[in-house]
This record gives sequence, structure tokens and C-alpha cells, in this order.
Amino acid sequence: MTLADWSFYDESGLPRVINVSGTMTGLGASIALPEVAAAMTSILPRFVGMHGLQLMASETIADLTGAEAGFITASASAGISLSLAGCMTGMDLGAVEALPDTTGLKNEVVIQLGHLCNYGAPLEQSIRLTGAKVVPVGQSTQVQDHQVTAALNAQTAAALYVVSHHVVEYGQVPLKRFAELCHAKGVPVIVDAASEYDLRGFLEDGADVVIYSGHKFLSGPTSGIVAGLSDRVRAGYLQNMGIGRGMKVGKESIYGAIAALKAWKTRDHAGIRAREDAALTLWQQAFAGFEGIEARPMPDPTSNPLDRLRVTIDAGVTGFDAFALAGAFGRNTPRIVVRDHEAELNYIALDPCNLAAGHAELVETAIKDILRQARGNGFPPADINKARNAGANGYLQWGSHD
Ligand SMILES: *Cc1c(COP(=O)(O)O)cnc(C)c1O
Repeated sequence: MTLADWSFYDESGLPRVINVSGTMTGLGASIALPEVAAAMTSILPRFVGMHGLQLMASETIADLTGAEAGFITASASAGISLSLAGCMTGMDLGAVEALPDTTGLKNEVVIQLGHLCNYGAPLEQSIRLTGAKVVPVGQSTQVQDHQVTAALNAQTAAALYVVSHHVVEYGQVPLKRFAELCHAKGVPVIVDAASEYDLRGFLEDGADVVIYSGHKFLSGPTSGIVAGLSDRVRAGYLQNMGIGRGMKVGKESIYGAIAALKAWKTRDHAGIRAREDAALTLWQQAFAGFEGIEARPMPDPTSNPLDRLRVTIDAGVTGFDAFALAGAFGRNTPRIVVRDHEAELNYIALDPCNLAAGHAELVETAIKDILRQARGNGFPPADINKARNAGANGYLQWGSHD
């Protein structure tokens, strides 16, 4: 058994944390690869021509995605805004500097209602930031072709399509068809695939531009990756002279993202999968035999090649609900953050994507400890409204003295 290395936490004084919730901004996203860290360190004390560095990124992105071109942004969210802004301004520098004033430009962005998600901020705000108007299509759980077509008009600058576990997973128009409908009206399709493994499929299915997160599955620095048709990518890049300035990405993140993309090509995907599956088995066994709890691996909802351990609780049998179980993990030492955003459906999930050495075993020990507590005195019930609003409350309470 490998022991976890806590030296960073001891030296910095920051509290120890184990992340089994996924690539979460609130926990620092993901574990960056050693080659990413080395690339970032090597460029930090040096000057480089930034256009040349972004051209190097473009070539790397093209190689991996099959796109004509690409560039690195500060985040996927920034990539969405800059790409949409480019669809409005084209290569017109006057228009770039005028945003978010869109006078004289096509300024509507069409999106299926079930895709209007929140990834820590409302997706629709990443559209409105550019000055564009959001045009939602259809109803939350049903969108039909005619509704998409009816929404596309002479003012439509772009259509935005989201691939994510955050969106409604049925009743939406699939990407291939969505792109056909949009292209029939000459409207470009921008795809937010921030949290997806597949670096080629969305472009193959008709996306003009696709946006990925550099810091999710790619294990790079906090960054976004824009990939697509050369004209669209160049127009998005131009926004660095405008609204993109406040979303500036540094040389270290660009070079780190290039390193992450290169590492993706030679990554031992099967080996990583096997390690993740071993962790799931370990945890599943730790839950086994506890009455009212069923733990089993579930495939990722958007077909990313990974499973998570879904732990379903029958509160009538256990006497505690999924929120309370998540709370018990949060009180563990070290703190263990589980995936609890669907806890009202009576389950939590344990995500094996971001385990450092020794973490899987510590989670196994924690499961056993928590179940022992549950059998003994139990643990406090969760305040469900507090748990539901934890994201907002974290920001509200930050820096406050009470
Ligand atoms: C994470 C995520 C984002 C935001 O990505 P950042 O790089 O953190 O800005 C946008 N869209 C989806 C679907 C996401 O999962």
C-alpha cells in the first residue's frame, strides 16, 4: 500500500483534502501532470512572442483534434465567450473594440433550453458577456427540429451546443442534426465540450468550433482549448484585443496546456482505467453488506470512458439520507469531498479520476469508519437547504469575520 504524501499540506498549512467528486473548480480542478508542471516552470522566467506560442498551440490542437486551428484561453468559459464574440465581429477590429455593444452586428445566440446549465456560473452569462442576446429554443425536456429552425434568422450570430452531464440528457436535438439545421441557415455551431474526453467526434459531427477545458480530463493548467475552423478561430483570437483582455491567459498556461495535449497522445488510458476500476472495487467492497446501501459502478452519462461508484441510500432503512452521508465524508480527517449534486435522488457518487497515491485506500478506510459510526451513534442529519446552497454560501461567507 502506497502512503499518501501530505508534505505540501504540512508545509503550506492548508487543510488536507481528498477529491472524489470530479474535476471541481472549487477544489483546484485536477491533478496536473508532472510534464505540465515542468513545462510551466521552464517558461515562467522567460520571454516569448505570444503569437508564436499560440501558433505552437494551434498546431498541437490541430494535430489532436483534427481541427484547422486553435488557441488557448484562460478557461473553457472564456473560450465560449471569445468564440461567440468572434461569430459576431468576424475580423472587424472596430467591432471587437465596441463589444459588448453589438450595434450593427448579428447578435443572437440560439441554444436549446435543456442546455442552459450552470457550471459554477450560468452558461447564459458567458453568452451575454459578449453583448449577445440568448435565444432559448424549445422546452426544458423537449426540443424539436422545427423549433430550432424557427429560431434561426438574419440576426443569428451563432448556435451554442453543450455536451455535459449538467444538461438535460433526453429530448434534445443531437449534435449532428443540430449542426445540419444550423448550417442550412448559414449559422455556425459552437460546442461546449469542456468536460469531455473525445477530442475529435464533435468536430466530425459538424461543430465549427469546439471548446474543451485544459484542466479537466487533460490534467493541464487552468485553461481552455478552442479548436475549429481557421476563420472562426482567428476571429475568436482577435477578441484578446477586446473583451478577452480581462480573461487573459499567461504564457505558463499556454505552454502547460500544450504539454497536456501532447501527453494525451501517449497517455496510458487503459492503465488509468484499470487503476480507477480497482479503486471502485475497493470502495464497493467496503460498502458491501450494509443494509439500505447499494454501491455499484455506473458509466459516465456522456460516455466518457470512466465509471463512478454510485452509492444509493434507502433512508427508510438506514435512518440517514444521501445528504447526511455526504456530510459525514466532509467531516472525515482528511476531508473527503464526494459527488453530491444529485443527492436529492437518494444517491452520492465517488469519482476515481483525481486520486493521488494512497488516496483510494484512505477513502476505503473512511467508508468503513463512517459505516461504523452509522451503526453506533449515527451521525447528524444534514440541513438539506444548507447543502443545496453550499456553492453560493461558500462565496458569501468567504472573508467574513462571523
Ligand atoms: C467545467 C465546464 C465549463 C467551464 O469550464 P472552465 O474551464 O472551468 O471555465 C463549461 N461548460 C461545461 C459543460 C463544463 O463542464
